[in-house]
Amino acid sequence: MAAEQLSLALPEAFPETVPATLPQMLPHTAAVPGGVVTLDLGSSQGPAPVAHYNKKRVMVVENNGRWQAVVGIRLTARGGKHQLKITGRKQAVNFKINAKKYAEQRLTIKNKRKVNPNKTDLKRIRGERGRIRKALRHWQQKTNEANVGAQFILPKFILPVTGRLSSPFGLRRFFNKQPRRPHSGIDIAATKGTPIIAPAAGRIIENGNFFFNGNSVFIDHGQGLITMYSHMSRIDIKPGQIVEQGETIGAVGQTGRATGPHLHWSVSLNDARVDPSLFFSDLESLLSAPIKQSAKRFSK
Ligand SMILES: [Zn+2]
Repeated sequence: MAAEQLSLALPEAFPETVPATLPQMLPHTAAVPGGVVTLDLGSSQGPAPVAHYNKKRVMVVENNGRWQAVVGIRLTARGGKHQLKITGRKQAVNFKINAKKYAEQRLTIKNKRKVNPNKTDLKRIRGERGRIRKALRHWQQKTNEANVGAQFILPKFILPVTGRLSSPFGLRRFFNKQPRRPHSGIDIAATKGTPIIAPAAGRIIENGNFFFNGNSVFIDHGQGLITMYSHMSRIDIKPGQIVEQGETIGAVGQTGRATGPHLHWSVSLNDARVDPSLFFSDLESLLSAPIKQSAKRFSK
């Protein structure tokens, strides 16, 4: 009865309560390397400001009558004062980043070429690096169906795959005892062939087989928010394609440099790989259920 009343009341009440701009689902903030900061850029009565951080264009969203910059912080960023530059404004927006020391992770890779590539591999890697960089630096002002009118709406992510969080974001990595780049995404362990879905609507801007990342897909969600999927067993989509939230883009595999079947998922903002968990209310609990299940199975 109550539900019926509610559904009857909604069509009338809705037009009056719709605000001029839709509220944004902003990521959690963390002023640390690999984190995200949001900065107020003033009243949204005027046109959207164009903002750059480290010479990279930054996402600007309209939220509660204000312009807000949503800035990704690189894992290599140093603690201290940082600046956001606004086109046409003399004064930069200053913000502070706190240093953060992520835990270490030591992995053993049987295929030594995936740790110390040969000459041919290096040539291939260099070519691929350019493609990856280009994809991660892609800028699209507006992309998906989630964008209403002229307003850019930051998508709310769902999990691309359900599984076990096998490696968190930011770990300082050593492969066969040699230091390598920090972990720029999260690893979700799942059975080979488990479908991977688009966590939000977007445009496919790149895919292919890469030396380290294996079969990979890049989705542009607009305004510098790009997500990357690696080590896939298969890819089901093509560049240029628009995907809806929940649409299958491929499946979990072990291609490239991987110790077991898993999805490596990276979230990039203004070309900075940031912690995907900032885009969820509680990512760890979403990915922890299978741990308990498998622990149960093994304890028997
Ligand atoms: Zn990974």
